[in-house]
Amino acid sequence: MALDPYLQGALAAHIRYFRDLGVFDFYRRGEPLPTEEAAAVLQTVTVTATESLLPSFSESKPEMPRAVPDVRPLVSQPALRISSSAPIAPELRAAALQAIRDEIGDCQRCPLAPTRNKLVFGDGDPNARLLFVGEGPGADEDAQGLPFVGRGGQLLNNMINAMGLKRAEVYIANIVKCRPPKNRVPEPIEANTCKPFLFQQIEVIQPEVIVALGSTAATYLLGAKASLSSLRGRLHHAFNSKLIVTYHPAFLLRDPTQKKEAWKDLQMAMAELGLKPKRIAE
Ligand code: URA
Repeated sequence: MALDPYLQGALAAHIRYFRDLGVFDFYRRGEPLPTEEAAAVLQTVTVTATESLLPSFSESKPEMPRAVPDVRPLVSQPALRISSSAPIAPELRAAALQAIRDEIGDCQRCPLAPTRNKLVFGDGDPNARLLFVGEGPGADEDAQGLPFVGRGGQLLNNMINAMGLKRAEVYIANIVKCRPPKNRVPEPIEANTCKPFLFQQIEVIQPEVIVALGSTAATYLLGAKASLSSLRGRLHHAFNSKLIVTYHPAFLLRDPTQKKEAWKDLQMAMAELGLKPKRIAE
């Protein structure tokens, strides 16, 4: 019996995940699934942005799972145009980002569309070495169409400056591009529908380091839900980049005592980028 294409995609992702872990034998309720059949599933699956832009994890760092349990998107995902095996030349990255923006268009793909004012695509240097990813736009971002321009944005700017960088030198984006009502956490259907576009942006920018701001960003970038405390303080690998998890600026505004912990995370990012902390004026 032919499988529903969505199930086929999910099965292919599942098989790939186990193959990456070195598991090659699959059985169907006690009945062996011939390897050729599994291979055929892999080959016949239509590659969509959702599955092909999942974080790529290097074999030498096997600690990260590959896939967020995907929720069926409201509409089919855009066909993949950006291949992870072919990095985009630096001079073409701005145009490649614009192509992604054009593809998003006046997005109506998820339930956030009707209540948004402006879609917040992302902002910064298309060739940035450092990418910050937040959760989703708030009221100020929704009004301006730019990420992190409210109070949390001011704090993020300070964090960036403390690293010895200017905001224009990094890239900033979010898991979802439209404001969730009352700033609630994005629902899985919203995050899973939107994230392929972020993943495409990451493929274009090829940042050396990604900083996940808070638990929502960490969950969808790493493809697994875990407590922030278990994810902080170590280097992860995703999208051919190093990934560091830290607190969301909104949390730091509520609990400034945690800023020193966030600074430790940022120092880890700086070490990876070869940046030295700014010298305090003598
Ligand atoms: N919070 C986020 O997660 N992202 C923004 O852009 C603003 C606030």
